[in-house]
Amino acid sequence: MVSDTAAPIPAPRGVPLAAAAPGANARPRLHIDLDALVANYRTLEAAAPGAAVGAAVKADGYGLGAALVVRALSAAGCRAFFVANAQEGAQLRRARAAPAEARIHVLGGIFPGDEPFFAEHALTPVLNTRDQVRLWAEARAAWRAAGPASLHVDTGMNRLGLSLAEVEELLTMPDLLASAGVDVLMSHLACASEPEHGLNGLQRERFLAIAARLGPHAPQARLSLANSAGAFLSAHGGVDYALDLVRPGIALYGGSPFDPAVSHPPTPLRPVAHLFAPILQVRDVAAGDSIGYGATFTAPAPMRVATVAIGYADGFLRAAAAGGYGVLAGERTPIVGRVSMDLISVDVSAAGAAARPGAWVEFLGAHADLEDQAVAAETISYEFLTRLGPRCERSYSGGAVQ
Ligand SMILES: *Cc1c(COP(=O)(O)O)cnc(C)c1O
Repeated sequence: MVSDTAAPIPAPRGVPLAAAAPGANARPRLHIDLDALVANYRTLEAAAPGAAVGAAVKADGYGLGAALVVRALSAAGCRAFFVANAQEGAQLRRARAAPAEARIHVLGGIFPGDEPFFAEHALTPVLNTRDQVRLWAEARAAWRAAGPASLHVDTGMNRLGLSLAEVEELLTMPDLLASAGVDVLMSHLACASEPEHGLNGLQRERFLAIAARLGPHAPQARLSLANSAGAFLSAHGGVDYALDLVRPGIALYGGSPFDPAVSHPPTPLRPVAHLFAPILQVRDVAAGDSIGYGATFTAPAPMRVATVAIGYADGFLRAAAAGGYGVLAGERTPIVGRVSMDLISVDVSAAGAAARPGAWVEFLGAHADLEDQAVAAETISYEFLTRLGPRCERSYSGGAVQ
C-alpha cells in the first residue's frame, strides 16, 4: 500500500519554527536555539572559573550562522571571537554582530598586503610565524588603526604557530615582540578530546615554559590554551588548562568535545541544532524487497518505510546510512538503504499512525543526539554540523536578539 495523503505540513512539535515560506514545506528545517547556546556558554564559564570565555565561530559558527551566534554570545558578555580567515571576521564586523571592543581573532594569520584590511575591520591577527610578527609590528608603526595581535606558539600540534626554534629567535628581538602588541599568547591542544593522553600535560608544560620566557616582553599578554575539551578538563582533573582565556567551539553548539570511546568528564550541554525533515510518502515493503539505490538493504520481514525529504545534498552524510536514525513519535526510525541526494528511507514500523506524509522526523535535537548521528556517519559532530547545507530552511529563537 502506498499512502499519499497530501496533508499540509505543520511545524515540528516543541520547536518554535517561523512559518514556512509558501511552497517551502517539503524540505528539511534547521532550528537554532540561541537560548541553549547561551546556556552552554554559562556551562563553560562554570567549567573554567577565573578564565574569560571566548568563542570559536569559524565556518559560519560551525554551520549554524555566525552573525546570530556572535550577537547572542555578545549579549551574554562574550568579548573574544575566533574565525578562520579575515573574510569571516569582516563579515561579522559588517553585520555589527559584536560590540566594537570585542576582539575578532583571525586564526589563519596575516599575509603581506592584508594589513590595511585587518586595520579597517578591526581584526586581530593570530601571528603564526616570525615573519608575521614582523609584518604586524611594521603595520602598527604605519597605521594607528592596527590594534593588538595574538601570538600562536606551537607546542606539539605541528599545524600552525611559531616553532620552539622561532620562539628562541624572537626572544633575541624583544623590541619586535613589543612593537607587535601581543596581548594574547596562545597554543592549541592536539589531544584534549582524550583526557588521559600524555600530550595534554606535555603541551601545557611547554606552553607555560614559553609563556614564562616571553612574559617579560609582553607583560599584558593573557594565556589561552584550551578549546572546549580543555575547558572541561580543568574542572575535572584539577590541572588548570583554562588559564586566562578559553576558546570553546563545539561545546557551545551542544556537541561533546570528547572522544565517545574514552572515559571523560561529564558535559552537561544543551542541543542547539534541531534538524527535522518531512515524510513525503509511506509504503509497506514485503519481506525480501530491497530499498533504494544499489538495493543494499533487503527487508528481513514486512516493514513500513517512510521516504523523508533530506539527503546528502542537505549535508546528511551518505555514510550515516550505517547507523543513523530519525525519531518519530518517540520511536527510533533507523535509516534503511542508501542516503540519496534529496531523500532517505527510514523504518517507521514502530511509529504506528504517526508515520504519515507530512509528519516531521527529527534527526538532531532533544531526541536525536548529535554525537550518535556523527558516530553513525563515521565522523565527528564538528563535521556533521558544518555540512548542514543552505537547502535546510533555518529559523532561530532566543538569545535576546529577536
Ligand atoms: C577550532 C578551534 C578551537 C575550538 O575548538 P573546539 O574543539 O570546537 O572547542 C579553539 N582553538 C583553535 C585554535 C581552533 O582552531
